[in-house]
Amino acid sequence: MTTTPSELAPLEFSVTRNLAAKSAAEREQILRDPGFGSVFTDHMVDVCWSERGGWHRPRVQPYGPIPLDPAAAVLHYGQEIFEGIKAYRHADGSIHTFRAEDNARRLQRSAQRMALPELPVEYFMQSLRELIAVDGAWVPSGEDQSLYLRPFEFAKEAFLGVRPAAKVAYYLIASPAGSYFTGGVKPVRIWLSETYARAGRGGTGQAKTGGNYASSLLPQAEAYEQGCDQVVFLDQDGNVEELGGMNVVFVFKDGRVVTPQSDSILEGITRDSLLQLAEDRGHTIERRAVSLQEWRDGVASGEIVEVFACGTAAVVTPIGALVTRDGDETQPAGGLALSLREELTDIQYGRRDDKHGWLVRLDA
Ligand SMILES: *Cc1c(COP(=O)(O)O)cnc(C)c1O
Repeated sequence: MTTTPSELAPLEFSVTRNLAAKSAAEREQILRDPGFGSVFTDHMVDVCWSERGGWHRPRVQPYGPIPLDPAAAVLHYGQEIFEGIKAYRHADGSIHTFRAEDNARRLQRSAQRMALPELPVEYFMQSLRELIAVDGAWVPSGEDQSLYLRPFEFAKEAFLGVRPAAKVAYYLIASPAGSYFTGGVKPVRIWLSETYARAGRGGTGQAKTGGNYASSLLPQAEAYEQGCDQVVFLDQDGNVEELGGMNVVFVFKDGRVVTPQSDSILEGITRDSLLQLAEDRGHTIERRAVSLQEWRDGVASGEIVEVFACGTAAVVTPIGALVTRDGDETQPAGGLALSLREELTDIQYGRRDDKHGWLVRLDA
């Protein structure tokens, strides 16, 4: 049974302040050059779920280790899902996030696939606001900086039998993030994984789940060995899927913008937004299978004029080369990726009209 928003009372969070919170001076020092994903804010949010009690015990508490039974199902069977969102500080000091309800719904779809309980969209949004209420000062104001928000859900029941856990935890942590690229956006070299697959038909490719990342680490290491930044995966039919954590988009000479679609590809919100902006400019959008052959033939004939990758963390990255054991296949350099990137980040940072209503204010 689904619950309609009006029936759902807001959660009542208990708030425990972190007595060892960083001082304003320490925080400012960190925010000058936060890097990515290694420093965390002073607090975290957690909500419990049990088969009997549903969602309960919503808390804001000091950031710190999670007590976990060694038999917790997540440690053995990987029943886990997550999301990645950014909070942006606008010039007037206000704090906004981008299409977060779409992340909430995607977390629900991931939950469904991984047999975890679906966190109501309202609770998800409330968790973001609760964390910003205590840690809002951690949203940096420098160029291209943001506060990266990481909601996640995992099976915490201590039970080694194999079935969906009857006890689950939802957490939200946050990490200030600097510009992903030092010295400007530069095209990346992509290693074509011909040995390993990321997902399979009917598998978990469409869910944002840790296991997909675990299985991508070895091919990613192979990519580094080959002097590449990222790896691109194919499906069993030789169609292009995506990178380990970014979607792929092809731009054609006639203005068509084409992206691979299948049930083994994660549906990126960055990609969806960029395609919407391209459509607003008059581009025709196609979401369909794209074979490796079509990619190669398109580049050889000049039909494909640009290839880029996109996702929340790096936003947009032009692909400069496709690399295989046979060598480098240089990709054409176009201007659409960077132009769409600028338009999207302008909207996110409040420098341009948000005509699609994508921003959600978090601090009011
Ligand atoms: C998160 C993710 C993306 C990008 O999604 P966004 O919503 O744009 O951040 C792409 N591929 C994979 C595998 C992902 O996990």
